[in-house]
Amino acid sequence: MPRPRRCRRVWALPNVTCFRPAVQQTSGEAVLTVDEFEAVRLKDLLGMEQEEAAKKMNISQPTFHRLISSARKKIADALVSGKTIKVEGGAYKMVEMPKRKFKCYDCGFEWEIEYGTGRPIECPKCKSRNIHRHPDDRGPQRGRGLRLGRI
Ligand SMILES: [Zn+2]
Repeated sequence: MPRPRRCRRVWALPNVTCFRPAVQQTSGEAVLTVDEFEAVRLKDLLGMEQEEAAKKMNISQPTFHRLISSARKKIADALVSGKTIKVEGGAYKMVEMPKRKFKCYDCGFEWEIEYGTGRPIECPKCKSRNIHRHPDDRGPQRGRGLRLGRI
């Protein structure tokens, strides 16, 4: 039985999912999967080492190598042949940045802020300073913060 494919971790989705040559007639499409796109982003754009990039995507180095080789070939083919590049599909999971949840104990307002932005001083609704971490929020845990991605 074939081993189930491990889902690749993706940290950013493409802003643009279709690139078209500025001519009337294009010669077809090259379709990159979102995980291939992420491999190019990490290695070629951010300049990460293959080992680091593979870890970030939660895959082995040979898998990462296959992924980025396939992506580069598709991009090269599109550039040389004048194809439209589309980014869609693939087996991946989008990584959600962990958030901290707070609760105002005066008006009951609940809200979330991203990590690294500092602790809020007052309730954004009633300006009370009687605010605390939300009882549901026990901080980031292993295995949390992943949701199935699909575009
Ligand atoms: Zn409040």
